[in-house]
Amino acid sequence: MSKITFFGTGYVGLVTGTCFADFGNEVICVDSNPVVIDKLNKGEMTIYEPGLEELVSRNVDQKRLSFTTDSEKGVKESDILFIAVGTPPKDNDQADLKYVMQVADTIGKHMNNYKVVVNKSTVPVGTAERVKRRISNNLEEKILFDIVSNPEFLREGAAIKDFQNPDRVVLGVDSESAKNLMSDLYAPVARTQRPIIFTDVKSAELTKYAANAMLATRISLMNEMSHLCEEVGADIKEVAECIGLDSRIGSKFLSAGVGYGGSCFPKDVRALAYMLESHDLNANIVRAVDYVNNRQKKSLVPKLKKHLPSLDGKRIAVWGLTFKPRTDDVRDAPALTVINQLQEEYANVSAYDPEGVEKAKQELMDVDFHSNSYDAVKGASALLVLTEWDEFRNVDLQRVKSLMKQPILYDGRNIFQPGKVRDLGFTYLSVGRE
Ligand code: NAD
Repeated sequence: MSKITFFGTGYVGLVTGTCFADFGNEVICVDSNPVVIDKLNKGEMTIYEPGLEELVSRNVDQKRLSFTTDSEKGVKESDILFIAVGTPPKDNDQADLKYVMQVADTIGKHMNNYKVVVNKSTVPVGTAERVKRRISNNLEEKILFDIVSNPEFLREGAAIKDFQNPDRVVLGVDSESAKNLMSDLYAPVARTQRPIIFTDVKSAELTKYAANAMLATRISLMNEMSHLCEEVGADIKEVAECIGLDSRIGSKFLSAGVGYGGSCFPKDVRALAYMLESHDLNANIVRAVDYVNNRQKKSLVPKLKKHLPSLDGKRIAVWGLTFKPRTDDVRDAPALTVINQLQEEYANVSAYDPEGVEKAKQELMDVDFHSNSYDAVKGASALLVLTEWDEFRNVDLQRVKSLMKQPILYDGRNIFQPGKVRDLGFTYLSVGRE
């Protein structure tokens, strides 16, 4: 059993902290936002992640998991201190490390014995060294500590499964005692035959950016190909299937759509470009990946206007606000870009999302939010499907059509079969398919 504290109780800290508690460890989750901690202490969830509520409640009941704003307690009572705070982008694309450094100061101020400080936030290469210096500068007496880089690869919507069955765990270490402590901590994961990989600290830090840039590149490449498919009459889904069967390529992250979003890919791709350029290196590929993605997110409305030239005063329905299904996270979601564009054209937007409405309300103005998909399409001149939630896949399209003013369906995630939808009398638009 290890005593662990997580600083930052968001999508990463809450899920991984809870999962470590479920392995029998004693976990304190610290957050500087009292609203987050109050809610969690009342048994309310602050984020939507499938299976999380039950796991939190079980571990709180077993007294293995607690929530507090008291960072001093978080430092003093644990041996392993995880940093899992946000690293948002600055205006120049650089990752903003102010929250990470705040935690480093707190740890240094309250450190009372040997600790391992594990950085789980996505941070540029060299951050571990900076965190080490910040902690040392705050220490009142000489206390030994180690820094580990443990990048997080979880996917929102499947985060618990990803924790329990990760493809790999990457641990950047530079001391034997830290290596031993981390090996013990991750031993339950190792039992699932998943590789635990120890690297040097800088390689671990860079791995996270390299992984996200690779995945984002695949998506942008397919999105670029989708335009050629539309021009020449090819089908991007068939192309994706055929290349995905090549074992050198694999089938994942080949879906063309409305562009990638979320709290990771957009900012991490740009932060990697910044990192390369700040070393006077070329960032041609990652800059292009970002450029293609922004263009993709903005490509829907012009295409819709070919069928609906004026959007002024028209009701346009949007299904799907989150950046992907099975999460409530709308950070950098393509839906936000598309809805802003629709509003610039004076359309009236009505929207539905199974989990994302509350968070979308904080980002969008003048949108009619609905609590079910059918209400959202009433009187609409077009329906845009922007997130591939399962419940949209087998929706009653006949009923949808009967509720709409004009049956235009723009399938931004290619979830419907074009022939079937057109047979129902829809004008059907999708991405990279006729
Ligand atoms: P988040 O915004 O959901 O949560 C961060 C939390 O940290 C917030 O609740 C905030 O109040 C808290 N915080 C800020 N300063 C603090 C401080 N000084 N002390 C204690 N708490 C503090 O962020 P997230 O999505 O969980 O991401 C965290 C990090 O993990 C980021 O670097 C992100 O890039 C990375 N990451 C995220 C994901 C993901 O899917 N969300 C996946 C892998 C990696």
